[in-house]
Amino acid sequence: MRLSQMLLVTLREDPAEAEIKSHQLLLRAGYIRRIGSGVYAYLPLMWRVLQKVSQIVREEMNATGAQECLLPQIQPAELWQESGRWETYTKAEGIMFSLVDRQERELGLGPTHEEVITAIAKDMIKSYRQLPTHLYQIQTKFRDEIRPRFGLMRGREFIMKDGYSFHTNLESLKETYQDMDQAYRNILNRCGLSFRAVEADSGAIGGSGSQEFMILADAGEDDIVYTDDGKYAANVEKAVSLPADVVSSPFNSYEKKATPNTETIAKITKFLECSATNIVKNVLYQAIYDSGKTVLILVHIRGDQDVNEVKLQNELVKLAPHYQAKTILSLTIPDPHVQQKWATKPLPLGYISPNLSDDYIAKSEQVEGTFLRMADKTVVELENFVTGSDESGYHVIGANWGNEFTLPELIVDIRKAQVGDRAIHDPHQILQTARGIEVGHIFQLGTKYSEAMRATYTAEDGTEKPFVMGCYGIGVSRLAQAAVEQSYDKDGIIWSNAIAPYHVMVIIPNITDETQVKVAEKLYQELNQAGVEAVLDDRDERAGVKFKDADLIGIPYRIVTGRSLKEGKVELVTRATKESQDIAIEEVVQNLSKKLKNN
Ligand code: ATP
Ligand code: MG
Repeated sequence: MRLSQMLLVTLREDPAEAEIKSHQLLLRAGYIRRIGSGVYAYLPLMWRVLQKVSQIVREEMNATGAQECLLPQIQPAELWQESGRWETYTKAEGIMFSLVDRQERELGLGPTHEEVITAIAKDMIKSYRQLPTHLYQIQTKFRDEIRPRFGLMRGREFIMKDGYSFHTNLESLKETYQDMDQAYRNILNRCGLSFRAVEADSGAIGGSGSQEFMILADAGEDDIVYTDDGKYAANVEKAVSLPADVVSSPFNSYEKKATPNTETIAKITKFLECSATNIVKNVLYQAIYDSGKTVLILVHIRGDQDVNEVKLQNELVKLAPHYQAKTILSLTIPDPHVQQKWATKPLPLGYISPNLSDDYIAKSEQVEGTFLRMADKTVVELENFVTGSDESGYHVIGANWGNEFTLPELIVDIRKAQVGDRAIHDPHQILQTARGIEVGHIFQLGTKYSEAMRATYTAEDGTEKPFVMGCYGIGVSRLAQAAVEQSYDKDGIIWSNAIAPYHVMVIIPNITDETQVKVAEKLYQELNQAGVEAVLDDRDERAGVKFKDADLIGIPYRIVTGRSLKEGKVELVTRATKESQDIAIEEVVQNLSKKLKNN
């Protein structure tokens, strides 16, 4: 390719729309253009990167025996109604774009393909002899993300590889899951990324496991905790740890105390001169179930701890049948405005006690009349604790479960693991944190979809059994941008050889110099013939502009047909290190071929 013919427009300034470096660089270097919110055009250079990533993904998937296919993006609502996800995906969470066709049929644009693939398996896989099997595709996905941002990192249209495997039993699923774990590691290594595989939340689906692949970068949206011994790494949504030890309570008798202006933990510990570990904090949540029921939840947790809302949500989904529901549509801390909808009187916010009376709730068809009370494990053993009194400006001290307060029956682990906590597998290991960009997620689904959609096969013993399923996703476009987030300098992008749009850029500093042009043209041809992907900068531009663009675009090597031509040499510059050397013209092809092979 000749740059003189390529649609390439580079920008000197960082575009205002871009907050993180990789987004700025991809825009500036002419890889992508924003068309609408979360919607981007992949320009010629970007498309080559995406195809390279896709090809690596494809090779690693094929090596495991998975088969590539392509599933429809337009998906009938009926399939999603069968799985029970239509309402949640189009209304509650609203992540799925949906439409109505001329025949008044409802359709969704595929955000993911469990329903479609399960329908295919139900139709085509009749016998255990056809199992296990694993299909994957590389395709554009649509998700109406509430906050599209950071360019390709969180788009509303993006490229994903998604794969789905079908099995007769859990052991077989686990084998494929292990293969996928390895395949994903291979993909990320080949792309030259530094990453961490972490335990992930499997949500309400349960299942025996799920793992995310995180590209380590400060701009990542995910918090990871890990230990230095390498034995534990988890998404903070899922992470567990040992909480700090309790400092023994300075109070030994029960008393109600005036504690004006102490509605936060920091203020009350200062006022009472006690430790946050002496406090039972009572946090109010409001959940709306898909049956329409609003449930108010009162969580008791130790003062120095925070609620992990993902864990809380999982607990609440488990209780859904209790409210004639399947799942919850929303989970929030109700603000005073929302409280007005059900509260009979103003709540003693900041001073709530575990015994907060159900009289605060105006019971109705829509609203459950009693608080759902649950205690995090951290409060169970507390003695002589401090907590609210249900009266603004007053706390109680020296309280005990079974005396002044009733410990709820529901005792759960819903605390957030914190940096500095001791690890469960080895208390000498302390949790560290890092930020990550989730690029892949592998998941043991089990029978959630096959049961819901009645997708069964005939087992060896003649009985009908639901498929045991796994699913595995890797974000191709997100991965490509994450690679930039992990590798750039002040002048621009630094691609790894494996996913760079081209291997080498041949630059003619002065296109009016015939020798420069002749040598460059020849090298350009020879390099491409030898399989070294070369792009030729034959634009009518100043040399300085060309060098700046070359740094910005970030192709691994560059050949400059400049001053050293007199000695029969050209300049070879390595983008990552900016190292420059003069090499004989005849050696260029061999030299670069060797460099690429070694990588
Ligand atoms: P996130 O928590 O970041 O929204 P997710 O859990 O919804 O991700 P999955 O449904 O597991 O993601 O999708 C598999 C992969 O697809 C992700 O690991 C990620 O690489 C990619 N992906 C998901 N959503 C987007 C998006 N909006 N834009 C770009 N890539 C995405
Ligand atoms: Mg998402």
